[in-house]
Amino acid sequence: MPSETFDIVILGAGSGGYACALRAAQLGLTVALVEKDKLGGTCLHRGCIPTKAMLHSAEVADAARGGAAYGVNSSLESIDLAGVHRYKDGVVGRLYKGLQGLVKSATAITFVEGEGRLSSPTTVTVGDRELVGKHIVLASGSYARTLPGVQIGGRVMTSDEALTLEDVPARTIVLGGGVIGVEFASVLRSFGSEVTIVEALDRLVAAEEPAVSKQLERAFRKRKITTKLGARVASVSQSDDTVTLTLESGDTLEAELLLVAVGRGPRTEGLGYEEAGLTLDRGFVTTDERLRTGVGTVRAVGDIVPGPQLAHRGFAHGIFVAEDIAGLDPTPIDDTLIPKVTYCDPEIASVGLSEEQARAKHGDAVTTYEFNLGGNGKSQILGTAGFVKLVRSGPDGPVVGVHMVGARMGEQIGEAQLIVSWEALPEEVAALIHAHPTQNEALGEAHLALAGKPLHAHA
Ligand code: NAD
Repeated sequence: MPSETFDIVILGAGSGGYACALRAAQLGLTVALVEKDKLGGTCLHRGCIPTKAMLHSAEVADAARGGAAYGVNSSLESIDLAGVHRYKDGVVGRLYKGLQGLVKSATAITFVEGEGRLSSPTTVTVGDRELVGKHIVLASGSYARTLPGVQIGGRVMTSDEALTLEDVPARTIVLGGGVIGVEFASVLRSFGSEVTIVEALDRLVAAEEPAVSKQLERAFRKRKITTKLGARVASVSQSDDTVTLTLESGDTLEAELLLVAVGRGPRTEGLGYEEAGLTLDRGFVTTDERLRTGVGTVRAVGDIVPGPQLAHRGFAHGIFVAEDIAGLDPTPIDDTLIPKVTYCDPEIASVGLSEEQARAKHGDAVTTYEFNLGGNGKSQILGTAGFVKLVRSGPDGPVVGVHMVGARMGEQIGEAQLIVSWEALPEEVAALIHAHPTQNEALGEAHLALAGKPLHAHA
C-alpha cells in the first residue's frame, strides 16, 4: 500500500477538523484532511447553519402573522416548505463553496475524500491510501442519538431527517427539551404545527439557569407549545398516518411527527480508536487539557471530547491543537468561558457560571442581579419579554456569569463573553456607554444596577 506522509493527518472535516487544518497550514505544516461526507460536517450541512436558516424563516412567518400588533395589515397565507428548503440550501451552498475555496487555496492541505480509519497511532487508512502523520487529530464528530426501543424511520425522525420535511405536520411531539428540542419546537410552532415537548427532567433547557428555563416555559405557553416535564417514554409505535407515544405514566400522545432530540453521541465506534490504544469513556475520547489522548501522537477535538458539543468549541479546539503542535504554546480552552446561544423564540444566551456553580465555587458572598427587559426600550419596541441576569463572585469581585433570555438576545453574547472572560467588575462595565435604544443597553443597565447606580430599574 503506498503511503504518504504529513505533519498532521486529521480524521473528520467538520468544525474541529477543518479549523485545525486551516490553522496548521497557516503555520507552515502539511496536512491531510480526511472526510467521508462533506467538508464542513454537521454544523454546515445538518446542524447550526440549516437549522438557524429555518429559525429565520420561522421568524418571518411570525412577523407576517403578527403584523397587526404593529399597525401593519399582514397575514400568513401558508408555509411553502420547499421554498424554506431552497432558501436554507442556498445559504448552506454559498458557505460550502466558500469553505471549499479556502481549503483548496491552502496548498499545504491535501483533502482526502473517503472513510478513514485509525490503523495505527500514526496512520489513517482511507481505501487503498495510507496517510502517515507525525501527529493525528481525531475530529470525527457526533451523531443524533435515539432511545432504546425508539427506531428512527417513517414518522420518527431526528434533526437530520427533519431538515428535509416535506409537509408541516399538523401535530408534532418533540422528545427532549434540550437545545435541539426547543429550537425545532419553536420552528414547527411558527410554521403552524401543534407542538408538545416531552422532557424527562423537571425543566426545559436544563443546562441553563433555572430562571431562564422558567421564562422560556412561560413564553412557550404563550405560544401554545405544550410542555410535559418529568415525563418518561414507555413506548413508541407508528402507523401510516400517526405516531403514538406512551409515557410511563400511562398517558398517550398522538401526532403526525415524533422528533427525537435526546442528545448527540460521539462518533468513535469502529474507527480503530481503541485498537490504537485510546481510552474511551462511554464512547467519548478522554484527553488532558491540551487535548492529548494519552497516545503520544494522537489528539482529539470537538464533539468526541467530553464537554459542550458546540461548533465554536470545535473551531477553538482545532486552532488550539494546530498551534500547540506548531510549538506556539497556546492557552488551553476553558469550557466555562464558551458562550452558548439557543435560537428558539425567545432566544437564550449565556456564558460563565450559573448562580449555583458560582456559589459552589465562591461561597455565599456571590451576588446576582436580574434586569428585566421591561425596562429596555428596544425590547419593548420588539415586544419581547425576558431578562439579563448577572452573577458576581462577591461584593468586590468580577462578573462570573451572564444569562440572558428574550427575542434576539443571542446577539448580546459578544459583550457578555468579553465581560466574563476579562473578569470585568460591574463598575468597569457601568462606566462604558451603551447605545440607546438597543437591546445591548440591557447589559449596560444590569451592570449599572449591580454597581449600585441603576437607571431604568430599581436597585
Ligand atoms: P441536549 O443534551 O441539549 O438535550 C437533550 C434533552 O433530552 C435533555 O433535556 C434530556 O433530559 C432529554 N432526554 C433524554 N432522554 C430522555 C427521555 N428518555 N425522555 C425525555 N427526555 C429525554 O441534547 P440535544 O438537544 O439533542 O442537542 C445535542 C447537542 O447539540 C447539545 O450538546 C447541544 O449543545 C448541541 N446543539 C447546540 C445548538 C446551539 O448551540 N444553538 C443547537 C443544536 C444542538
